Amino acid sequence: MKSAVFFERDGIVNQYQVGQSRPMPPTSLEEFKINPEIVPLISRLRSLDLMIFITTHQPQVATGKLDRRELDRMHLIMHKQIHIDDTLICPHEMSDPCPCAKPNVGLFKELEHQYRIDMDHSYVVSDKWQDAAAAQLLGCVSLMLESPWVGTGHRDYLMSSLKEIGDKICFLHRNQTAMMVG
Ligand SMILES: [Zn+2]
Repeated sequence: MKSAVFFERDGIVNQYQVGQSRPMPPTSLEEFKINPEIVPLISRLRSLDLMIFITTHQPQVATGKLDRRELDRMHLIMHKQIHIDDTLICPHEMSDPCPCAKPNVGLFKELEHQYRIDMDHSYVVSDKWQDAAAAQLLGCVSLMLESPWVGTGHRDYLMSSLKEIGDKICFLHRNQTAMMVG
């Protein structure tokens, strides 16, 4: 079984605007800007033989504010710029009690089964509490980037940069691999 890093998309992989104290994810290709720090981070994690996944909630697909084809175009560009194994989307509205909107674990479970991921030795990276809550249910290590949406619930690590998050995953994963070998 392989270990993986599950990335939240908005705020980690791409930048977003903030409006009315809420994150405003991009709704057009022009607004979709890859965070430059993510490129070296993913190369570094891949060198440790970690699989890379993105999970994202895009409720604007359900409300019609985000065209599904435009979203697919954004993800095509994202997959060209960074080496990602898979990206899963929850397209449902906030009010829709679906199993895939985080903190529900539907998207993670799908990836776990499809790619046979060892969740106990996998990592979740996000700037939002929903991912930390999902990680706790799944048994993954959560590494949160400081943001207004990070909340006060359980998380394993709260860090101030993606560089620090990368250092921590490298440290944890090397120790883990050494223990499994020893
Ligand atoms: Zn959903």
